Amino acid sequence: MAWQKKLYRILKKPPLKDEPMSRHTSMKVGGPADFLIYPQSIEELSRVLKLTQKEAIPLYVLGQGTNLLVRDGGIRGIVLSLADMCSFCDFSNNSIRAGAALPLSTLGSKAAKRGLSGLEFTTGIPGSLGGALYMNAGAYGVTIGELVQEVSTIDFTGNCKIRSGRELKFSYRWSAFQEEEVIILDGVLELISGDINKIERKAKMILDERLAKHPLYPSAGSVFRNYPGKPAGFLIEQSGCKGMSIGGAQVSLQHGNFIINRENATAGDILALMEIVKQKVKDNFQIELEPEIKVVGENGSK
Ligand SMILES: Cc1cc2nc3c(=O)[nH]c(=O)nc-3n(C[C@H](O)[C@H](O)[C@H](O)COP(=O)(O)OP(=O)(O)OC[C@H]3O[C@@H](n4cnc5c(N)ncnc54)[C@H](O)[C@@H]3O)c2cc1C
Repeated sequence: MAWQKKLYRILKKPPLKDEPMSRHTSMKVGGPADFLIYPQSIEELSRVLKLTQKEAIPLYVLGQGTNLLVRDGGIRGIVLSLADMCSFCDFSNNSIRAGAALPLSTLGSKAAKRGLSGLEFTTGIPGSLGGALYMNAGAYGVTIGELVQEVSTIDFTGNCKIRSGRELKFSYRWSAFQEEEVIILDGVLELISGDINKIERKAKMILDERLAKHPLYPSAGSVFRNYPGKPAGFLIEQSGCKGMSIGGAQVSLQHGNFIINRENATAGDILALMEIVKQKVKDNFQIELEPEIKVVGENGSK
């Protein structure tokens, strides 16, 4: 039997076939995934992993697609969303165990309502806990990795593990997950008790600041990693790139390190613009910018 048929048999919720990834990324670009799947349980997920291993089917883990640029040819094989099985959140004293698919915003507001402080910096960062752990998302000098007690994972061969925060070697927008083929299932974060009003005031202040600073057009947040001591936005602005555009993609006038989908941009437009920005910064500063966003999928169209 073809693997596609086996996949339909395993999954309670039918997979989405040839699903445009533009529907699942904040950039709103990206060609189709052969299959986008939503397993309902760890048992179902384990069976999918057995199949992908046996048949050598490529697998890609999707969070909320807010740090992702999917090329126009889409993604071959299976794209996995944990939205139906890892969206829980349990409190125990000052710690929270939360599923990888839980939106960071939900996590932050739930913690605030319980008078737990530590997640205020995540206010306004879109995406899921899993994506935040993978990327070690951060803002205002704090990163999610600093709060991590442990993370539960299952690797692509089906082995489950619990890893301590220290093992995961979190650093600037980096975690050990980025060198592995692994699915983050949930994480335990350690917070501190605080005053609800103070926590909510801080979160609101951060949100207001972000709303004023960040463009409203679709984007994937900061495109390039900051260079030590020199924010990428500064380098890009000083290289005269603000407002530059290709097709429907534009370097934001508001924030030099954001590329926005101004009008029906393709991934090709965005990638071409990224190359020009990189070259300009190299010419001006002899600095090679590296992407922060994850670029995946095939070129061209499927
Ligand atoms: C307007 C805007 C503002 C932003 N501001 C910030 C900011 O201030 N600070 C910051 O750090 N980021 C920021 N970002 C980027 C982004 O929101 C974060 O990186 C976020 O944590 C990504 O989460 P996600 O669920 O969307 O992950 P995705 O974009 O879906 O995935 C990102 C990577 O994580 C992997 N991944 C996701 N979930 C899992 C999982 N369960 N298991 C294994 N791998 C997984 C994916 O394979 C991919 O490689 C911003 C983005 C936008 C659009």
